[in-house]
Amino acid sequence: MPTVYNWQLGRPMEYPYDAAYPRYQFAFVFNINRCIGCQTCTMACRSTWTFSSGQEHMWWNNVETKPYGGYPQFWDSKLLGLLDQANPDGQVWNNIKTDPRLKPYGVFEGKTIFEATHPAEAAPQNRVLGYLPTDREWRSPNIYEDTGTGATWKPGEYGKTAALPEHKIWFFYLQRICNHCTYPACLAACPRQAIYKRQEDGVVLIDQSRCRGYKKCVEACPYKKAMYRPTAKVSEKCVACYPRLEGRDEIITPDGEPIESRCMSACVGKIRLQGLIRKEYDGRWSNDPGNPLHYLIREEQVALPLYPQFGTEPNGFYIPPRWAPRAYLEQMFGPGVEQAIERYVCPSRELLAIMQLFRATRPVIFRYKILQGPKIFEREVTLPSGKKKTLEIFNDTIIGYSKNGREAVRVTVEEPTFERDKQHPNSI
Ligand code: SF4
Ligand code: SF4
Repeated sequence: MPTVYNWQLGRPMEYPYDAAYPRYQFAFVFNINRCIGCQTCTMACRSTWTFSSGQEHMWWNNVETKPYGGYPQFWDSKLLGLLDQANPDGQVWNNIKTDPRLKPYGVFEGKTIFEATHPAEAAPQNRVLGYLPTDREWRSPNIYEDTGTGATWKPGEYGKTAALPEHKIWFFYLQRICNHCTYPACLAACPRQAIYKRQEDGVVLIDQSRCRGYKKCVEACPYKKAMYRPTAKVSEKCVACYPRLEGRDEIITPDGEPIESRCMSACVGKIRLQGLIRKEYDGRWSNDPGNPLHYLIREEQVALPLYPQFGTEPNGFYIPPRWAPRAYLEQMFGPGVEQAIERYVCPSRELLAIMQLFRATRPVIFRYKILQGPKIFEREVTLPSGKKKTLEIFNDTIIGYSKNGREAVRVTVEEPTFERDKQHPNSI
């Protein structure tokens, strides 16, 4: 089987096809700490792409409540179980970091879904470990919504169960779309070669004219983001709102600039930031210091991939929730969790400015510039590790630029306030 390099695992891995990389890669960062679980993103996607017959179970964007929720139900715990069965006690990380670019989280020493069971001589579609969810598991997109876990609450303990650094009773929302993976399992498993990854933006699409509905993509996608449509007898999946990405919507992008997808644009909690990552010919990320996603993921490392151990090199990244138990978060986001949370709770000046770009405008931001402002706040804070650090907040201004270098947004760290005229027409 060919070998490809997976930087999230910090090592080469087996993949059924030779590596081929796009020029740019669609990617996103979701800040779990800010999500209010309103499902506006879910409905924005639903009302755009999946409102037709046979698509009733298709929630290309879903927001589930962890640890119990999942869509389809048990998607992650089932696959983690299969991997553990295939490699008992072997799914471990060696997180001695040796190279920030090639092994930022250390080395994953376990087996990916491409390495777990199938012999090398098997056909590509049989070389991916997966399973087909049952109809029942596709039934309830928001099962266990807002259901917490942990210690039993006792009268008089109000407040104590929610003390940092880890809440004793906890849950968090996990926002999910297709990760437009660098090594897509859906693509690897398709016996018709109907799935392809676009050269211009790394978006993974299913060619509807080639698909024959064998559901191998549904079985193989570890995130269960390829879905079968019985009325059309083909599989469908998130298309990253590619007409928006191509700047082809004449009403909202008359200048042809790429704009964020519907789920990103609709986000009420301002938790989402979409971007396009520049890549080298060999798949490495180009050194692109002015790109906000490059900063969050590769420089500051506050945003981490979802289940990197599956091996698809997903291009969705998450700022982990600061209140949840670290062991749970580490099995989900890998060994970078503790560092990411430490950096998030007491952010650097640059990080705090970049955080203001989340959901601040519709065009995809390719570059930012920070104009320094005065210091407005200073306080000593205790980090989750117990160390003390001084938090300094500056009222900097951050400017985001679109693909063509146009100023798309300008926002300050301190939100401006406006005093309304007493005789405002809305006054009663
Ligand atoms: S998340 Fe699943 S459907 Fe999306 S590209 Fe990755 S393997 Fe394919
Ligand atoms: S719209 Fe934003 S805040 Fe609301 S559920 Fe979706 S990701 Fe969370």
